[in-house]
Amino acid sequence: MGMPVFIVAGLLVHCVFLASIFDIYFTSPLVHGMTPQQTPLPPPAKRLVLFVADGLRADSLYELDSNGTPRAPFLRSILENIGSWGISHTRVPTESRPGHVALIAGFYEDVSAVAKGWKENPVEFDSLFNESKYTWSWGSPDILPMFAKGASRDHVYTFCYTAESEDFGAQDAAKLDTWVFDHVKSFFNSSRSNQTLYSALNEEKVVLFLHLLGIDTNGHAHRPNSREYKENIRKVDEGVKEMASMLDNFYGNDGKTAFILTSDHGMTDWGSHGAGHPSETLTPLVAWGAGVNYPQRVASQFFEDNFLEEWKLENLKRLDVNQADVAPLMASLIGVPFPLNSVGTLPLEYLNNSAHFKAESIFTNAVQILEQFKVKMTQKEETTLSFLFTPFKPLSDSEQMNFLKKARLYIQQEKYDEAPASANRVLCEQVIQLSFLPLEKSQISAYLCLRNDRRCRKTMVSLCKTLINLALEGLSYYHTYDRLFLGLSIAMSFVGWTAYVILVIIKTHTNLTKTVQSSDKESTVLLYGFAFVGMIIAFFLLIQTCPWTYYIYCLLPVPVWYAVVKELHVIQDLAANLLSLPIGQSMGFLLVCVLGVEILVFSFFYRSTLTVGLLVFAGWPVITQLWVQAKTTVLIWILLCVLLAIFPLMPVVGREPNIPLVIAAGLLTLLISCSYLAFFRKSKNRYVNNEDLKVQFYQMLSIALSTYVVSSTHNSLQNKQGLPVFNQIISWTTLVSSSVLPLLSPTFLFQRLFSILLSLMSTYLLLSTGYEALFPLVLSGLMFVWINMEQEALQHYSLSLKPKLAVLNFSYATDITHFRQLHLDDIRRSFFFVFFIVTAFFGTGNIASVNSFDPASVYCFLTVFSPFMMGALLMLKVVIPFVLVSCAFEAVQVTTQLSSKSLFLIVLVISDVMALHFFFLVKDYGSWLDIGTRSDILIKEHSRSALCSTAREKCIQHSLHYKSMKDLVPSTLKWAGTKKRKSSSESLKQRGSLNIFGCTACRWEFRQMQAAGCWGRLCLLRLDSVCAALATMCW
Ligand SMILES: [Zn+2]
Ligand SMILES: [Zn+2]
Repeated sequence: MGMPVFIVAGLLVHCVFLASIFDIYFTSPLVHGMTPQQTPLPPPAKRLVLFVADGLRADSLYELDSNGTPRAPFLRSILENIGSWGISHTRVPTESRPGHVALIAGFYEDVSAVAKGWKENPVEFDSLFNESKYTWSWGSPDILPMFAKGASRDHVYTFCYTAESEDFGAQDAAKLDTWVFDHVKSFFNSSRSNQTLYSALNEEKVVLFLHLLGIDTNGHAHRPNSREYKENIRKVDEGVKEMASMLDNFYGNDGKTAFILTSDHGMTDWGSHGAGHPSETLTPLVAWGAGVNYPQRVASQFFEDNFLEEWKLENLKRLDVNQADVAPLMASLIGVPFPLNSVGTLPLEYLNNSAHFKAESIFTNAVQILEQFKVKMTQKEETTLSFLFTPFKPLSDSEQMNFLKKARLYIQQEKYDEAPASANRVLCEQVIQLSFLPLEKSQISAYLCLRNDRRCRKTMVSLCKTLINLALEGLSYYHTYDRLFLGLSIAMSFVGWTAYVILVIIKTHTNLTKTVQSSDKESTVLLYGFAFVGMIIAFFLLIQTCPWTYYIYCLLPVPVWYAVVKELHVIQDLAANLLSLPIGQSMGFLLVCVLGVEILVFSFFYRSTLTVGLLVFAGWPVITQLWVQAKTTVLIWILLCVLLAIFPLMPVVGREPNIPLVIAAGLLTLLISCSYLAFFRKSKNRYVNNEDLKVQFYQMLSIALSTYVVSSTHNSLQNKQGLPVFNQIISWTTLVSSSVLPLLSPTFLFQRLFSILLSLMSTYLLLSTGYEALFPLVLSGLMFVWINMEQEALQHYSLSLKPKLAVLNFSYATDITHFRQLHLDDIRRSFFFVFFIVTAFFGTGNIASVNSFDPASVYCFLTVFSPFMMGALLMLKVVIPFVLVSCAFEAVQVTTQLSSKSLFLIVLVISDVMALHFFFLVKDYGSWLDIGTRSDILIKEHSRSALCSTAREKCIQHSLHYKSMKDLVPSTLKWAGTKKRKSSSESLKQRGSLNIFGCTACRWEFRQMQAAGCWGRLCLLRLDSVCAALATMCW
């Protein structure tokens, strides 16, 4: 296979691999074509008022202030006197959009949106608003249009402030809420003079939706423990009180209004949301008015958390729900059909109604979810060959009939929920209700309970709940029906590709094989054989009417494996070679390889794995002969490994700036460069001329300046004096000059490397706020020793360049045309590289979590809120350690006389194996950040292995983060509005915790990494060898 073909094939396999993730994991679970289901009995309420206080935490609402008074007196009196309350458990991603979808449409936002660019309504879905007669809604333009556009008739009306005028909330975000309350009031006032509107408002099945964004905005800007956040809650409480009395007046106290107050998600202590921390997933739910149960006094109640005592609510029954349960609750209060895609279970305890009504309602609920199951099953059955189709057994047609018949019978016999309270039944009930446990667990229990405990079947309600759980389990069964099969065929082609790369390495870079040409006849037979297999696969896909993407996934393994099998003689030679080795040795080698890759994979999830890996590295020279050869080098190696191993153990989120450490790092760098200079003076190195010394002096100066700028900037910000212009100028000058200076330094290996370190270090210092400032120093120290160690290791093969290392000149080094063959040791070399790269990324936790980006680190450069610039700067910070490692790797390649191509291929294999791991670890649930992170990992893997070639992956990355960007940009823009006010210290405080960098950063990451890869090499090889470098990189 020629090189261009090889590259194209590689790109193709990787692209298909990435694309398949979206097709396999991120497809919409929603189905269409169900019949709406409605309770036949008259509903208790004519209208429903839904307040969603965006970003309100449960504890912030319920807890008492320090002086013992309730923070929201009106709501407190509601839940003590006339309403029901509880905690609504949201799911990750805890973002506004999925939160509102769960509340209003009753399902958890489908992850397919991730693949569709988070446009509005990536899929059609039904909502409570759509089912209502009329809905009027007030609030943010980010939320309301979502439900108005999905509505099938023109009956959902929205009143939003425009995105631009959100600026009025810049001084005090609570104004966003006042806007809503004021507009509702004037709307109702105006209706008195508008007859059509007046009669519409008096219809049945009316929903009023008040979206209150102030609390979320204040939480982001000031954190939930701030006075502003709490003050905003008080304002909302007053507003709700005002609305309630206004509505009661308007409707003449007809007692036909139901009220619900909840929030879409909570917020962490540091003012972010999106992930699954309890502070983000626990939201309040307070309901009162028509059809809602009165407070139930209890002597004691059991919950695993201690909230009840903290909130002094031990004696009022707390009724917890899942967020999606709110939709059926609202639907049953005003008597509209449950939203078609809803997966919520009606929380019966919130209802103040007859047992008959409750039984009918839960029955409707069960039938409605069963409808979805049936549609899903039919869809799957139609596109699968009948003899291959495995139905979901617990809900076969006859079982469904059984359930429904029995339920009808119970309703007739009025056996609603009065079964003897056997301990077992209570247990079952609890298990079913605790469905905020991982779903599978509760489903299994419910199922077991259904099978084993006949008493569980005795009541209508528990029967329906069992049916609901089974239907949900069945839905997920059919949704993931093809997953295994598709996953396997993707894995097949990927494994094939990796095997092929290994064969190419063995064939072209080792002397393990003799070149034998296979006969023409054999290869023709092979070709026809594979073509035949391909045709059979295509035929099968055709009769199952599969989507076109399935053809790609299933047919791709055929040519890939054809290429592998064609190299059969290489495999034979390799096998012969391997068999001649002692079996223990080869098994041991394999084991070490597997362990190494596992450590790498684990480190993406647990940073501390890197510590383990580094400690193993520290022991590496001791178990080889290196220890005997060079004791000093080995000792330094061990010391630096241990030092570096400390970094992954340091905390990532929520740490305070530690400027003295940054200053210490600056001084240490100065000290090192001074001793370096002194060393060269003493040895009177003839290779150093004055020109070069000037460059180094300038670099030392910029390190000193950076150290000064960091400390003075942070002092001045602390004294609320803003960022001095002088500091800002120095920061930007340093940043620009540091990218040019290394190119002016001498081309001798260590001088060039040291110069790169100094330049990058001065920039890194400006971007540091704490211990991480020491990270590049330790890392590059280790890299320096690594280059030396590799020399020592080479002596084993007696091809060392060691004597010449100090004077190795890069402009000539590339002239080495005689590259050596690969050894087993080179696998270790490549592994070290991959490991160090991962360490460079996760060492300071910069990429580990999107929340971990601390805006404080860019304060030396700008204090005006500009997400794009800040994202770019933070990316630069992440990239610097990467550049250091890349440079060291390039140096190792050159000094060990290897062509970059061969080591690069091994790195490619290692990353491919890791990527395959992640492929099976992709989750289709969880935080968007998590989902993003997982896919990012894959993309990261690929961008590394493909350093400068695959530009297309970028698009996928973009679409992946489009929504998070979009979600965040409005609030960002809003803050950009504050830049007109120059008091930077004040605005800095406001922006303190806006976590918008993750998304921006991820968008940048890819390009920056590619750039860094090239850049690292370019720096090293000087401009006159750019052509040579390009040749190496592009073969
Ligand atoms: Zn929100
Ligand atoms: Zn928010």
